[in-house]
Amino acid sequence: MTITKVYTKKQIEKLYASLSKKGEIKKTPPYALFQIKMSDCSITAYASLKVLFQGEGAAFYASIQKEAQVRPTPIAQYPQAGSDEVGTGDYFGPVVVCATYIEEKNLSFLRELHIQDSKQICDNDILRIAPQLINTIPYSILILQNEKYNQIHPTNNMNQIKAKLHNQSFLNLQTKYKLQLDTIYVDQFTSPSSYFKYLQNEKKVIRNIHFETKAEDKYSSVACASIIARYHFLQTLDKMEQHFGFTFPKGAGKNVDIAAKIFFDTFGETALKKVCKLHFANTHKMKLL
Ligand code: MN
Repeated sequence: MTITKVYTKKQIEKLYASLSKKGEIKKTPPYALFQIKMSDCSITAYASLKVLFQGEGAAFYASIQKEAQVRPTPIAQYPQAGSDEVGTGDYFGPVVVCATYIEEKNLSFLRELHIQDSKQICDNDILRIAPQLINTIPYSILILQNEKYNQIHPTNNMNQIKAKLHNQSFLNLQTKYKLQLDTIYVDQFTSPSSYFKYLQNEKKVIRNIHFETKAEDKYSSVACASIIARYHFLQTLDKMEQHFGFTFPKGAGKNVDIAAKIFFDTFGETALKKVCKLHFANTHKMKLL
């Protein structure tokens, strides 16, 4: 008897933990994570998260772990607009928001480029892929430089800043290409009600938005937006580095505290306000160094 089940990574780890002590661990076949041989069943877990139970005891071993709830992949509509932001977790550098517009005719081109979320792509690939996207698909970009960011942050929290930038990026996309945006995806960073509350004083608000978490994995428009935004973030950081002759580490970790301290000691507070997000804990931490 053969039973196939699909599990989550965690469930596969649990299965391994519970069976590996009782059975004999076999040499792992190609594409498999592990294979365990019990007296009446052989269990093979594949990198695709499929698990194969083979033998008399298949039904028993397959019942140990409940199967993963396979979420149906949402069906993407085309043409679609989508937006994403980067830089919100980086102490140094701007917040960048991009919106793109993807038509069905662009899909084969995007498949060739292996488009996925910018967090999954190394910076070198961003620098290679983004210019091709920029030359091919309609997009709009907003770069909120640090100086301006630090001016508005005391009266706008990060989510409010993001909401305004996302809204503006769609408005710009519309005007720049004379598009009517019927289907819009935003990588959700706050509840839809908060999003629109943040925009209540804006003159024009784009309202027909589908908010979804992990939207960059589901919608090519959001994935492309995330890549183009990341590209402009890297370009901006590069310009800052050339201007100051200083290397700005990414993120907001310990190495950032140290770099901030060195930058502050070398260039002073006025310059610091032009390169960082001042309200991050790094500002306080570096002063203790
Ligand atoms: Mn995002």
